Amino acid sequence: MGVESFHPQGLCCPNCQASVSEARNFRKTATSGLQVYRCKRCASVYNLYSQTVFAGTQFRPSQVVLLLRGVCQGVSSAQLSRELGISRQTILSIRRKLQSSAERIQPEAALPDAAVETDEMFQNTGEKGDPHRDASDPPRRRGNKRRGHGTYENDRPPIVGNPKGRESGLLRLRLVHQTDAETLSAHVHQFSLPTATVYTDGWRGYNHIQRTREIVLHTDGEWATDADGEGLYEIHTNTIEGVWTTVRNFLRPFRGVHKKFLAGYIAICEFVMNLKSVSVDFISKLVKSTYS
Ligand SMILES: [Zn+2]
Repeated sequence: MGVESFHPQGLCCPNCQASVSEARNFRKTATSGLQVYRCKRCASVYNLYSQTVFAGTQFRPSQVVLLLRGVCQGVSSAQLSRELGISRQTILSIRRKLQSSAERIQPEAALPDAAVETDEMFQNTGEKGDPHRDASDPPRRRGNKRRGHGTYENDRPPIVGNPKGRESGLLRLRLVHQTDAETLSAHVHQFSLPTATVYTDGWRGYNHIQRTREIVLHTDGEWATDADGEGLYEIHTNTIEGVWTTVRNFLRPFRGVHKKFLAGYIAICEFVMNLKSVSVDFISKLVKSTYS
């Protein structure tokens, strides 16, 4: 993947859309070494980063490729900053733009599978930047003690997922505010076919889904033991546990993403888990500037 992938339909003038074949090679940018074009029709000046989130930056193409790869792999901004020699603030700013793109292009369609699982995990957030008011009660410990179904408001926002549809191998991941019946029914109805059998745990939030429902029981202790009295389950579904492990591992380097930004991290994570390889189509949409 190179920065040429940013324009799969071919580079064109951002002002009048004339093809790059109707432009003169104008000069090369000093730091990034990119060819700068001047449109013969309208005299606009542009380069490969035009109309992308990298427009106006002086990154070398190799830095851009490594930055994109790092964001998709869940590498922390601090580490990318060290590796690429770009300030952490700049990395974070680009990351936020890529996350916004990812959220904007997240698939809305139902999974095509005849069997779909749906489950929730809860991500502790809100520790970062919040002062510890009571030294004897640090937020992290308090957060870990809180069991059962978290909410966005209490800084344990739920992430609802449909792990790897049994035939399609596709996944949907969404941050929601709570795991009540209204929220979970909406998620299930959007992301599964009306004819699908939906596998869930025993949580009552799924009691009203208009689907054939099968209750599966998780072996993972953390999720099986629940303050809401669902009990300790014995039977199993491996796929969901694998998905949540991947999501937790993806989020871990960020050490407490603020809940305000969590949906963006989840969107990137969803794409990476769904794509067998990072496609040109995905990259071109991800880097597309919202202003164009
Ligand atoms: Zn032009």
